[in-house]
Amino acid sequence: MADRSPAIVVVGAGVAGLAAAKKLKEYGFNDVTVLEASEKVGGRVATATLGNACVDTGAQYIHGASEENPVYSLLKKSGLLNQIPEMGEEAFYSNKGHKVDANFAKNAYGAGEKIIQYRGSNTGKSLGEHYAEKTQGMIDSLQDNDKRTRMQSVFALVGKDMLIDIGASDLSKISLDSWQYYINMGDSLNIAGLMFQLVDKLLEDFPKDRLLLKREVSKIKWDGSFPVAPPHGEPLLSAHTESASEEKVCQYPVCIVCENGEEILADHVIVTISLGCLKAQASSLFIPSLPTEKMEAIEKLCFGNIAKIFLEYEEAFWESDLGSISLIYEDDTPASVSTNKMQWLKNMQSFSVLRPKERFGNILIGWCPGDIADLVETMTDDELSTAITDHLKMFLGHSNIPKPKSILCTKWRSNKFIKGAYAFLPVGVDGNVMDTLAQPLVGSQHPNKDLQVLFAGEATLKTLYGTVQGALLSGHREADRLAAHYKKTLAPTSATSVEKQV
Ligand SMILES: Cc1cc2nc3c(=O)[nH]c(=O)nc-3n(C[C@H](O)[C@H](O)[C@H](O)COP(=O)(O)OP(=O)(O)OC[C@H]3O[C@@H](n4cnc5c(N)ncnc54)[C@H](O)[C@@H]3O)c2cc1C
Repeated sequence: MADRSPAIVVVGAGVAGLAAAKKLKEYGFNDVTVLEASEKVGGRVATATLGNACVDTGAQYIHGASEENPVYSLLKKSGLLNQIPEMGEEAFYSNKGHKVDANFAKNAYGAGEKIIQYRGSNTGKSLGEHYAEKTQGMIDSLQDNDKRTRMQSVFALVGKDMLIDIGASDLSKISLDSWQYYINMGDSLNIAGLMFQLVDKLLEDFPKDRLLLKREVSKIKWDGSFPVAPPHGEPLLSAHTESASEEKVCQYPVCIVCENGEEILADHVIVTISLGCLKAQASSLFIPSLPTEKMEAIEKLCFGNIAKIFLEYEEAFWESDLGSISLIYEDDTPASVSTNKMQWLKNMQSFSVLRPKERFGNILIGWCPGDIADLVETMTDDELSTAITDHLKMFLGHSNIPKPKSILCTKWRSNKFIKGAYAFLPVGVDGNVMDTLAQPLVGSQHPNKDLQVLFAGEATLKTLYGTVQGALLSGHREADRLAAHYKKTLAPTSATSVEKQV
């Protein structure tokens, strides 16, 4: 390579892209450019305004509130986690219009959670199969028929909540071995309204002129597979210089083309776009095409969806100490846990209260999994508001529940630059497929062969996929990879023990 700093382009300014860019800067790389297709940073860490409140349309929980979680420790160090409100009480209602005894429901829920959170290893089974079998064993051991029915229906609720955690529509399609490589970082912490601070932290010190918004990347030409003479007679730009001679163009193995026609030369590109976008675009985005095993990895992995429906009320119709409202169908069974679009409302069983009231006002979040999320994205606010109000009236058993004064439904599947919520492993697919997705591309034609195209993003980390910390650590992984390539090191305090594991 010529005597110059390596030019590195990061595609996507979600947590993975921003974490990679920040760490590259820390390593001393000074030619780093981030290209973001949308008009804002953060990707699936995002906010919107509802009433006077700023709500998280994407991530809102730290999955693993412990020091080994870099998201937790970063936000804690910044003093942002000092005033997290209590979770609040849980209330359970039946479709027969009465309250379910909370102690019974919580105990049954806890028992169901223990079963569903089992981590299989090379079983080849589905989560649905395992869950139905094990819960049935427990139900069969009960003498009291009424208790059996009530237990079954709570177990079914646990299954539906799991579909939300995974973004899937059917437990029988999810691999029981999904978490065999997973790192459990501890309990989840609801940090409503605060997750975006992470994005602000990642942006600190990153030069503003090297973060380019509204730059949708439409082609990534690697291995020197682009004309030496620039296409439109225009000079090709290196990541930060004004023009490029033919000789200069030859030095770079990668050319990133934006939808607006801009072309940027680089030594390395780190692609952090979501699995959903890779599924839709991988076959046309890369020239030359991605290797077959990489294309197969993209195809095999699933990209689920969830919808968060924010309902803002003039007055709360729930008790002030409440944190969640769960709706239980008395005829549901763990074996029946899968969604049905025709009965979409039946799958709206979990609502959480945004706390504290002083900060958010009176807002409930209704959660929908998988294909139900895809469906509600297509509905009007009025359709949602009417249907959900009738639904709540039926369960809570009182007719004076008002319609929300405003409503906001997330639309992650329809978002052109995201196309869903997070990755999951279907039955028969091993987490190692994520390693294949993460594998960088080595060229064969251009003299600068190594690490031309690198991949980061939540779906590339089998130990923490589907999470914000997974995205962050995948970005760090790729920055570390480049640093190792150029023999750059950081001060020893920087890498956490988890970073060493992933
Ligand atoms: C509704 C929802 C709730 C969630 N809740 C939680 C939670 O509570 N806790 C948790 O830990 N995780 C949660 N997650 C998951 C978490 O948000 C993600 O795992 C993480 O934010 C993914 O970050 P990323 O950088 O990998 O991808 P993204 O955030 O998708 O970033 C990719 C970026 O690439 C950009 N891009 C796409 N195409 C192009 C292109 N062609 N050119 C240029 N740029 C492009 C996108 O606009 C985007 O900004 C949630 C996700 C969703 C959707």
